[in-house]
Amino acid sequence: MSLIVRLLRVNAMDAEHRENKICDECGSDYLTATPAMSRLCSECAHWLYGYLRCDHEFVQQRCSKCGWDGSVSAYIRGLQAQQAEQRQT
Ligand SMILES: [Zn+2]
Ligand SMILES: [Zn+2]
Repeated sequence: MSLIVRLLRVNAMDAEHRENKICDECGSDYLTATPAMSRLCSECAHWLYGYLRCDHEFVQQRCSKCGWDGSVSAYIRGLQAQQAEQRQT
């Protein structure tokens, strides 16, 4: 790969990270931690599609790693309740 192509790719990634993204599911702002899931925060991508969950580190009510603010949609709350039930039985 030429150096110029590499530089262009890095610039494209920077632009992506600066963009203020809103999760389609829970409405939280987030950083693009999972590029494949460009419209979901890492938390929703985990619950909806089984992506590796972020090991959230909250700093001033936002995860410093993925940018998730702790919002959970009603639908995902339901999935969490289901999973909790399955663990008990
Ligand atoms: Zn979300
Ligand atoms: Zn996180």
